[in-house]
This record gives sequence, structure tokens and C-alpha cells, in this order.
Amino acid sequence: MSKKLIILGAGESGVGSAILGKQKGFEVFVSDFGKINEIYKQVLIHHELDWEEGGHSEEKILPADLVMKSPGIPDTAAIVQRLVGKGVPVISEIEFASRYTDATLVGITGSNGKTTTATLAYEILKQELNVALGGNIGKSFAGLIAENGFENYVLEISSFQLDGTVNFAPNIAVLTNLSPDHLDRYEYDYKKYIASKFKITKNQTEADYFIYDGDDEDILEGLKNHPTKAKKLPFSLTKKVTEGAYLNNKEIIITVNNTQHTMPIATLGLQGQHNTKNAMAASTIATLLKIRKSTIRESLSNFHGVEHRLEKVLKINNVMYINDSKATNVNATFYALDSMEVPTVWIVGGVDKGNDYTSLLPLVNEKVKAIICLGLDNEKIKQSFSNAVDIIVETAGMQEAIKVAYKLAERGDNVLLSPACASFDLFTNYEDRGRQFKEAVRNL
Ligand code: ADP
Repeated sequence: MSKKLIILGAGESGVGSAILGKQKGFEVFVSDFGKINEIYKQVLIHHELDWEEGGHSEEKILPADLVMKSPGIPDTAAIVQRLVGKGVPVISEIEFASRYTDATLVGITGSNGKTTTATLAYEILKQELNVALGGNIGKSFAGLIAENGFENYVLEISSFQLDGTVNFAPNIAVLTNLSPDHLDRYEYDYKKYIASKFKITKNQTEADYFIYDGDDEDILEGLKNHPTKAKKLPFSLTKKVTEGAYLNNKEIIITVNNTQHTMPIATLGLQGQHNTKNAMAASTIATLLKIRKSTIRESLSNFHGVEHRLEKVLKINNVMYINDSKATNVNATFYALDSMEVPTVWIVGGVDKGNDYTSLLPLVNEKVKAIICLGLDNEKIKQSFSNAVDIIVETAGMQEAIKVAYKLAERGDNVLLSPACASFDLFTNYEDRGRQFKEAVRNL
């Protein structure tokens, strides 16, 4: 008799897993507590999958042999608790999908820089390899396997997706950096969040590679509690490494498996310290996978970023408008401010995730000429920066924020949207916030 696979949550990863599960002979049932997006519904119907929405039917779910839980559903959800209580294995889509491929897997996690690094790595690899990009970005890993099957996968992986892994072991793992984020899902315990991130390397063996930020104190500390068997390849802006990547006189030097090459940072398409790190991680991956040096160099210089990440939108009256809506935490905004080379009008605010703005103060002092608050509660921002910046304006929506920014910015300045907060007070998500920013700028 075929085994029962229950999918909780009918989003990208749920629908991908359902299709793959059916292909692999499972009896599949998809259950979503909310309303299923119409596009996904059509896909489920097309694949003749059994599904429900608007609640979980326990009589159909509890007899499961295996459950794939979507990353948005917390472990504390009642249905998950019941399943776990019955001893049913509850895994993530990354775990499920990885059981059905022998391809080379590159798994990229971290608090910030996942999408940029994964996209950058993919852009390089696709020049010479059969490779797909997926996971937490674009198509689900399971969906890609079901659809086609590639020889290599570059996977962006969130901590929620790692939480549900058991045996998942990428050949190349990357931990871009660590800073407190999503702590509401980790009992407000940063150590638990760190433990989740280190699952990226937990099952790796001596034949695998672990690439990480060698300047990140939390990663170095984390490695003591979560030692890896993989070969360690750190990247660093500040110190020489014998294997991995480091910066020397504005040149990236990469040394991997007796191959060495150099790249002046001036030739990179993406600027800013954080992007130098992302480029180091991506080119270390590419070097491990034996991509030609010239291909790596060309791809890095041709890549100009991903939407909503320090995206240059438009120059008006010699003022550059930059959309960094994806900066949903303080650390991401730190790097955005750090990369500003001219006086900046900074649009910040949204849903505060327990932010501590102290680390931004020196940068704000140095670079920010005015702050525009864009959120429902701006108290903490005002308190944190009132001594550093003379002009702090509160606004109630994007249109107004952009109008104020237009008035405050002078020729040669930047206007930067880098909110350091989640977007759910005024916008549907960070993409919506970024799009509204761009639209308001274009309407100026
Ligand atoms: P993620 O997928 O981890 O959210 P993104 O690449 O989408 O990361 O970038 C999210 C935000 O973090 C953007 O505002 C971006 O400018 C910033 N960022 C990108 N790379 C880094 C990095 N290595 N360190 C810190 N911030 C970064």
C-alpha cells in the first residue's frame, strides 16, 4: 500500500512537494489552514492532487506516514503538535526533496545576503554547468526536481527550512553571516536561531565544504558549539586566509584546492563591503566547482543586483533614489548605510522586530542628513537618532515619504529606502513596499 504524505501549507514548497510526492508513489493530501492562492489551486487540480483549504481535517491528516510542513507554519501550530505527539515525522521541503536527487547541492543560508549570494553563484555557474536556482527563492527545490532534474542546484535556505531537516547535507554549504532575526520563532533565544542556521553543515562529511564569514564573531563562536566535519573555507575582509577568500589591497584573493585567482573589487558589478563578501562566497563556490577564472570574473562584473536590494531606481535632479526594501533588519540596513558615499536622506521604519539601533549611530552621524520615518510606530527611531540628525520627519505613506524626500534632498545626495523593519503595517510585503517606492519615485 502506498504511504500517506500530508502536505501542510499549499504555497510554493507545499505544491512542489505534493507533485514530487505523487511522482514518487505517495498517496498525497494537501491541507492549508487559509485560502490557497488561485494559481497554486490550478496546479493542484492539474496534477489531480487531493487538497483542502480553510482548515485542517484531522481525520485525514493524523494517519500520515510522513508530513511536509511549509516553512511559514510554526512548530507550535496545534496540528503539528498533534502529529509530533503521535510520532509522525514532520520534515521540511528541503529535506523531502533532497531524498530524491544525487545532484551536487549548494545550500546557502545566513541572516542577510542569501538571495544575493545564491543569485550571484547561479549566474556564474549557469555559464558552464547544468544548474537550477531555487529553495527560498523562485521555484521550490521539490518542484525543480519534479519538473526536470538538474545536475547542480543552488539553494537559498531559510532557518525555517533548516529546522525541518534531518539528513540534508549539501556538498557545499554557505553561512553568509549571523544577526538576530525571526526570534519570535525561536523562543526569543538567539542561540536557538544560531543552532538552526548551523544545521546547514550538521550532516556534512569530510568530502564537503563549509564556506562562511570568517569575520563574523557569532559564526566563529557558533563553530565551537556546532563543529563541522566539512573542509572550512572562510572569507574575510580583514585577515589573510590560507584557504578560502580574503581581501588584499582592494583585490579579492581566492585559494581553493590549489587553485588561486585574484579579482580587483573595482571590477565587481555590485559595490559595498557586504557585496564584496557575497562575491567572495559566490566565487569560492564557483572555484570549487571548477568554473573558469575568466567566467567568474566576467559574471561578477556583469551582475548588478537583485530587485529591492540596494537597487538604483532613478536619478532625478542629480539625486539617486535607491530601493533597499529587502532590508528588514538592522544588520542589512547597516551595510546599506555603510555603502552610501554621499549625504543620504534615509527612509526607515515599519514593524519593529525588537530592533536595537545603536550599531547604526556612527553611520547615521557620518552619512545621514535627514530621516523620514515610514511606519505606524516611530518612537524608537526618533529616540535613537534625535541627537544625531536635525531633521526627522514622520510620514503616513510612501507617496508622502517620497515627496518629503524630494524636498529635502539636494543635488548629489542619495535618497535611500532601507527600513530595517518588516513591512506589514503599511504594505503587503517587502516587494510591495519596494514597488510602491519605485512607483512614487517615477511619478515625481
Ligand atoms: P536575504 O536573502 O538573506 O534576505 P538579500 O540578498 O535578499 O538577503 O539581502 C537582504 C538585505 O541585506 C538587503 O538590504 C541587502 O542589501 C543586505 N545584504 C546583502 N548582503 C548582505 C551581507 N552579506 N551582509 C549584510 N547585509 C547584506
